[in-house]
Amino acid sequence: MFATLSDRLTSTFKNLRTRGRLSEADIDATVREIRRALLDADVAVPVVREFTAAVRERALSAEVSEALNPAQQVVKIVNEELVSILGGDQARGLTFAKTAPTVIMLAGLQGAGKTTLAGKLAKHLKDQGHTPLLVAADLQRPNAVTQLKVVGERAGATVYAPHPGVAGEDEVPTGDPVAVAVGGVATARSRQHDVVIIDTAGRLGVDAELMAQAREIREATQPDEVLFVIDAMIGQDAVATASAFLEGVDFTGVVMSKLDGDARGGAALSVARVTGRPILFASTGEKLEDFEPFHPDRMASRILD
Ligand code: GDP
Repeated sequence: MFATLSDRLTSTFKNLRTRGRLSEADIDATVREIRRALLDADVAVPVVREFTAAVRERALSAEVSEALNPAQQVVKIVNEELVSILGGDQARGLTFAKTAPTVIMLAGLQGAGKTTLAGKLAKHLKDQGHTPLLVAADLQRPNAVTQLKVVGERAGATVYAPHPGVAGEDEVPTGDPVAVAVGGVATARSRQHDVVIIDTAGRLGVDAELMAQAREIREATQPDEVLFVIDAMIGQDAVATASAFLEGVDFTGVVMSKLDGDARGGAALSVARVTGRPILFASTGEKLEDFEPFHPDRMASRILD
């Protein structure tokens, strides 16, 4: 992840003089290289434009520290601007409801990593002493319910899932994802689960039916967090997909999945800025442990390492 971008930026900085002042031409040449590196890493064009303009302006301005040589100053500025487009200094944790249960809804395209994330999130929350309930409201994809049961079992979390034909207290509505989601929240309340994680259906591409269903689930369950899960490998499609979900469902935070892949990293660098929603977590593999809170400053250091 970010390996190419990281290499390109590092070699750009290597070419900078370490003594004296940088001329405007030096700065322009550097900014051009940074622009090319970001575009090649699939960062969205408006984000690249904003980023390079900020770096250029700051590098040209007098806000230079005597303690740093010109190359170090440019690295410092690029680092700060990277932190800024990734969402600022602080990792933003989950927002919990004042009155339990906290409802977390997952949304995103099919294959983005929602079901896997549900298990990771459940484990993460359990490790912190919470008692999450996983709700299988993805009734679209054959196997999604079974897959959620598997990750739930691995995470040691209870799964609320449709099981047709069983009457009585445990009967779960089948066929209707909205009813399943609502039933899940009610069950969490009555069984004292303090967090509910609702897995929803995705499609291969954005479509109106998917958006309408996700919006209905959102309206019916009033989640405290709607996490938009996006595959880091999606490249230039990141902005269009994220914008469609923002408009169609709205979300409170982003989870970048598959950050372990050899994607060029553009999605991570574009989505937070373009949507104005923070990246809360990074998913870095198929195992439940491959998951971490997202720290913009650490990610920027990784890029500039
Ligand atoms: P969903 O359709 O959004 O529920 O996506 P899934 O959770 O089923 O994930 C789709 C595929 O991506 C599965 O094969 C997962 O094992 C895999 N996957 C999910 N998250 C990650 C990740 O962070 N890294 C990698 N390498 N694979 C992942």
